[in-house]
Formats: sequence, structure tokens, C-alpha cells
Amino acid sequence: MPCSSLAEQKSANTLAGRLARLGLRTDADYVLHLPLRYEDETRITAIRDAQPGVAAQFEVDVIDSEIAYRPRRQLLARVGDASGILLLRFLNFYPSQQKTLQAGARLRIFGELHEGHLGAEIIHPRFHVVGAEESLPECLTPVYPTTAGLGQATLRRLIERALQRADLSDTLPPALRQRLQLPEFAAAIVRLHTPPPDMTQAVLESRDHPAWRRVQFDELLAQQLSLRRAYTARRARGAPRLAATASLTGALLESLPFRLTKAQQRAWREIAADLGQPHPMQRLLQGDVGSGKTVVAALAMLHAVEAGYQAALMAPTEILAEQHYRKLAAWLAPLGLEVAWLTGSLKKREKDAAIARVGAGETPIIVGTHALIEDKVEFARLGLAIVDEQHRFGVRQRLALKEKGLFAHQLAMSATPIPRTLAMSYYADLDVSVLDELPPGRTPVTTKLVAEGRRDQVVARVHEACRSGRQAYWVCPLIEESETLQLKTAEETFTRLSADLPELKIGLVHGRLKAAEKAAVMAAFVANEIQLLVATTVIEVGVDVPNASLMVIEHAERFGLAQLHQLRGRVGRGTDASACILLYAKPLGELARARLKIIFESSDGFEIAREDLRLRGPGEFIGARQSGLPLLRYADLDDAALVEQARAVAEDMLRDAPEAAEAHLKRWLGGREELLKA
Ligand code: ADP
Ligand code: MG
Repeated sequence: MPCSSLAEQKSANTLAGRLARLGLRTDADYVLHLPLRYEDETRITAIRDAQPGVAAQFEVDVIDSEIAYRPRRQLLARVGDASGILLLRFLNFYPSQQKTLQAGARLRIFGELHEGHLGAEIIHPRFHVVGAEESLPECLTPVYPTTAGLGQATLRRLIERALQRADLSDTLPPALRQRLQLPEFAAAIVRLHTPPPDMTQAVLESRDHPAWRRVQFDELLAQQLSLRRAYTARRARGAPRLAATASLTGALLESLPFRLTKAQQRAWREIAADLGQPHPMQRLLQGDVGSGKTVVAALAMLHAVEAGYQAALMAPTEILAEQHYRKLAAWLAPLGLEVAWLTGSLKKREKDAAIARVGAGETPIIVGTHALIEDKVEFARLGLAIVDEQHRFGVRQRLALKEKGLFAHQLAMSATPIPRTLAMSYYADLDVSVLDELPPGRTPVTTKLVAEGRRDQVVARVHEACRSGRQAYWVCPLIEESETLQLKTAEETFTRLSADLPELKIGLVHGRLKAAEKAAVMAAFVANEIQLLVATTVIEVGVDVPNASLMVIEHAERFGLAQLHQLRGRVGRGTDASACILLYAKPLGELARARLKIIFESSDGFEIAREDLRLRGPGEFIGARQSGLPLLRYADLDDAALVEQARAVAEDMLRDAPEAAEAHLKRWLGGREELLKA
């Protein structure tokens, strides 16, 4: 589509395009576009008093200027005031600048002075010719976040204009403001855009100032308001009250070879209570890898079936869906229940038949991939929709499932532990159940960091483990840029390991295999017909083979923390001592080193998630969970107290002052809130 992309390019290059890129549309957007830092142009410093490395303003006369050619073309100007002389150096310059720097011109310059070999100099100072009787500005000069091609001066002018036009009235009632000890909105905003010189820059920039606190609070409040409102809107829809009879759930609990952990019991109670309500459940079941989410999901599905409804479970990959399918079928067949299987890889005839049975309400429980949400699939009586690893689905797919299950109860499951403040903020539109306890009898996984140079020893260790009857995973290096390269690497790894370990039965599984091929390899691994499974990250989630007690991750430095944690969770599921070997290549970057250190030191999913949040920030962390969910620009999720306050205030406000809530949302989210409603 060359036309549209050309048009897009063009618009991105106009002023409007650049402003749009910064998210600047309404006056309120400009008002809330706050400075990154400030420069002090309210004072003139004498050259003699300048401190190296500290930005300052000088008022000087040009003594002379020239274009020098060594070591490269540059513009040099000598300038001075009554106290001393300075050299200005420009490595890039326009002819007009050269003209301005003519002998005798009087300038105000701003920049950091340092000692060059020709004496004190400033490289690329900002400067302008001083007008007759030009006074000094009264405020610190704000420096705004910007984008290529959009200068500070333009941005300042636009923001100044918006500040004059915009409605800065307060959305918080005075009593509340007083209780929270927050300044007025208008005062806070004006102060941040145009701070008086007596406000020290350090205080302003550390964001500890009351004006910053006000902005941070307002931002968190807007987030809470919009998420709570989306929650309430969904809750206002009807859903079938699913009456529990415990006929099926009780039978499942009795037939299981284990007892539920306390955490599983708690989550199950919370879910069962939701299912009995006349409005849709919107709950997230969160639990570290191996914490036993599947059985909780099975109980919820049976609850729906008991009440005369269907339940569907959707997983992001065939492998994962198939694991669920097998497990559920094994648990439920003895109870006389059929589990339907629906994925894209079924033959057309099988698929059509499955869809027909689902549509006729003949199958109570349906497991599958996103084939479940295709248009032709119509559920006769869907009472509960469960999505595993919801964040791995695209926005469109999540929307489609929501449509199908518009009036059904919804349960999302995630193995990515969410730190508390993140759960309180970004996930405020969901109720959350947490499995914070692993089933008993797990053996801790020993993690080893091994440099790539010692690969031979690692191969020997794999050999040893497999010879003594256990199984192992070998995870191929991640190649983000190219799926083709990734595949090639996986095949090479497989070939190389097959040559190194001729006595072992080795299998290869990757994303490009046909579903049936993938299933065959996995089945062989489950049956211990394959001893070493070479795999790409397709095994990241859900694979459960207790006899596999060793995992090698090649180029571990390329993986993210959550991914490493998920991968490692594939071992340590049986009674044998398990190990995870992280092979890494040198040199390690700083971030990679930090990640490996964390994964080496901790096996606690929550702690790892907290560190991950710290390293990556919430933007990356929540990933595609809700595109359109505005990220926090000013508030800091470390400040749990402020998040908590915002949450409490949001609830009061929605109840007692809906117009104020509306005004607050409009200011902070403009038209963007619509995106959240899905
Ligand atoms: P995940 O939360 O990672 O999806 P699974 O549901 O796959 O975890 O459970 C991991 C393993 O633990 C499975 O083999 C499952 O049958 C088993 N399991 C689940 N709950 C318990 C329990 N309370 N006691 C013992 N084993 C359990
Ligand atoms: Mg699972």
C-alpha cells in the first residue's frame, strides 16, 4: 500500500503529525505535557564565576568568529564579558548563525562550560541576540519531552497558549484536597510549567514536590476511575446465575489423587461465589507455573455444567490447548463427561462436526485454540469462558471471545505473577484470585550459570541424566528478529546434538511444525520415547512432563526474565532433583547480567516479577494486555500508598460525585477512554 504509507509519512512530518506522535491534541493534553527538567535563564553568570559542567547563562559580546577546518569544519566564536573570555564551538551550524555571531553582537548564551585545549569553551550553546532593554525571564525555562523536528520553542509556545485557554478548574473537592494535603490543580500545573526561580530545580526534578504529587495522584485517579467504570459497565450486564449442586465438582474432587492446596481452595471458593451471581464474573486467576491452575479451571467448568450450561477453555497454542484437553479428558471421562476439541488443525469434517455438536449443546465442555472464536462457532448455552495466558492473545481475538461470551462468566488465567501495585493499578478492572502456594512435594530446581565455552560439559551432563532414565529439554536460542532464522537455529541445534549424543533418542519441536507433528513429538516425549527434547520457546507455557528433570537454555542472556522463569518451571515437577542450566555467551550486557543474576538467585515468581517490573517498567510488563490502556507517565508504582489512595477516592467519586469524575476523566483521557471498554 505505497499510497497510504506515503501519506502517513507526510503527515508524520508535518507539525500536526509530530504533535500527534506526542499525544498532543486537546488543550488538556498540552497542559498535562509536563517538563522533563528546567534551565535557569533568570540569572546572568559572570564568565569568571562559571563552574565547569554546570549549565548557566552568560551575557557576552562577540569578539570575533571564524570557520576553522581542523580537525573538521566548525564555527568558532570568541566572546567575552567584563570578567573573562570564552570560546563557542559549533560543529553543525547554519550560515545564518555564522552571520549572527559577528564581532560586536551582544548575546545571551546558555550552556555548560568546560575546559578545552584553547581554554574555557562551550560546545553548541543556545544563544540569541539580546534585544534593547530585554529583561530576564521571571521563571525557570521548562524543557519538554519532544520528538525529532519539533523544537522546544514551538512546544513552549503551544503549551503557553493552551495554559491560557484551558479549563484548569479543580476536579477534586476542596475538603478532599485538604485531607490528602494536595495543592490545587491550577496552581500545581502552572507551577510545574513556569516555576519561580526560588524553587530549587533539584526539588522540582526529583518529583517530590507537592505539585508533582498532585499530578501523580490525578493520573492514578484517572486510571482508577476509568478501570472501575469499565468494570461497573461490564458488571451491569446480566449473566446466568449458576447454581452449584456439587454433583460433578464433588465427584472430581473425590477422584483426584491429591488434595487441593489452601490457595486452590480459596481461589475455587471465590470463583464459585462469582458464578452464583447474576452478572458476569470478571476474574483473573493468577498463579506461578506449577501452582495448579488447571484443576481450579476444571472445577469452575464443572460448576457451569452442573448448572446446565457449557464451559469453554481457550489456550494460545496448540500444545497448550492439547495439554489442557488431555488433562481434562482424563479427569472428566470417569465422570461420564465428553470434552470437545476444537483447533485450526482439525480436518474440515471433524471440525464441522465438533462445531455442530457445540452449537446443538451436545458437548458441555469445549477446549481449543482461537478456533473457538471463529464466526461459525456458536455455543448453545455458554455459561463460562476461560482464557489461559490471556496476554498472549491479540486484541482482536480477545474482543471476539468477549463477544461470544458477552453474557457468560469470564475467567482469565495467567502464570505471570503481577506485583501488588501493578495489580492494584493496571488490573483494577478485574477481581484477582492468587495461587500463592505450590502443591507439596515439588523439588526445588537448582539453577546453574555456565559460559558457552563449557558447552561440552553440559552436553555430557545431559547424556548422564538421560542414561539414568530421566529426560531433558534443550531450549534453542531466541532470535527475535526472524522466525526463519530461529527455525534454522533450532534445526542446527538438533543436528549438532544428534551428532554429539548418538545414543539418545532426540526430538525437535518448534512453532512451524504442523499441529499433528507437534502433537506426535510431544506425545513421544510424554511417553519417554524421546529422551531429549530440543525446543524453541513453544514449550514456554504449560508443558507438564514430571520425568523431565534437566533443562538447558542456550543463549539464556537473550531471554526475558518472565520467559526464563516460565521455561525453568517445566522442570522440578517430579520427585527427582532437577536442574536448569543457563548457557550464556560473553560479553554480557548490563541488563542481561542483571536478569541472569535475578533468575539465578530467586525462584519466587513474585519476586522475579517485581524485579522485572523494576528493570523494564510497567509498559513492557503488561505487554499487550490492553492496548489502549494509557501508561502512567508521572506516577510511580513504587508508591503503593498513593495508588491505594487513588483507588479509594475513585470509588467515592464514582458514587458521590459522578460529574467531577467525568470531568477528571475527560481531562486525563480525552476521547481515549473508549478503547478500554472492551
Ligand atoms: P499451572 O498452574 O502451571 O497450569 P498445572 O495446573 O499444570 O499448573 O499443575 C501442575 C501439576 O501439579 C499438574 O500435574 C497437576 O495435576 C498437579 N497438581 C495440581 N494441584 C495439585 C495439588 N493440590 N497437589 C498435587 N499436585 C497438584
Ligand atoms: Mg497451566
